[in-house]
Amino acid sequence: MNSYNPYLVAIIIIFLFYCGKKLLCKKPLMPEIYKFGSGKPIIVIMAGTHGNEPAPARYLSKFVRKNDHKKNTLDFIPYVNSSAIKENRRTTLCQKDVNRSWKDNNLGAINKYLLPIISKANLVIDMHEAWGFYSCSNKASLGQTLYTNTEKLDLLLHGIVGDMNKQFNFKDPCMKWVKREEKEHIHGSLNEWCTNHKIPYILVEMTGQNNIVPLKMRMKESEMLVRLFLHYFVLFKSISNKIKQN
Ligand SMILES: [Zn+2]
Repeated sequence: MNSYNPYLVAIIIIFLFYCGKKLLCKKPLMPEIYKFGSGKPIIVIMAGTHGNEPAPARYLSKFVRKNDHKKNTLDFIPYVNSSAIKENRRTTLCQKDVNRSWKDNNLGAINKYLLPIISKANLVIDMHEAWGFYSCSNKASLGQTLYTNTEKLDLLLHGIVGDMNKQFNFKDPCMKWVKREEKEHIHGSLNEWCTNHKIPYILVEMTGQNNIVPLKMRMKESEMLVRLFLHYFVLFKSISNKIKQN
């Protein structure tokens, strides 16, 4: 009678999985960085960190092709993880979650590539899409919120939230934008990295994934958010200068 050791089989499967992954995984595609202007302060606007959050990434990609901001110092990164965007998945089999790989002693490949840009920034604006609405999920999802790691940007974000709600006049109360107050960060997130390195950071969480809000609407919201960020650029400029001096 043939007998096999299930532990040995499991070990062989795990071994083959890791070897296969190592053999099959190519270096992830590195993001394109679009630079406008020069000098300080440097403001980075990025999206597409998670492949299943396409609206702000698509909008930024359109934006950089149509606009020419010579006066301002802006770095745009529309598709942080373009391999994941292509697969419409949070991350790929070959690349760990980019927003959990901002660890100084263990940076991911894309994180390492972006480090020189992020570490020089005076302000980072990080655009994501959540799976639900913050106001209607008992805060389980972060959708339709703005957050910052520095109280010096609080007032400005309140202003942008007010502008968004006025502009879109949402009939569904869940859709209303909220300024999120709790200051916490997930280990390995860009928020944590920026906070540890004293770089002002804004997290934009739209709703969201799986087309819970139609893509067309999310593109409109992305456009308005970027317009408002650029409209308040002068204020960001003076605020980020002040933060830097402190
Ligand atoms: Zn995300």
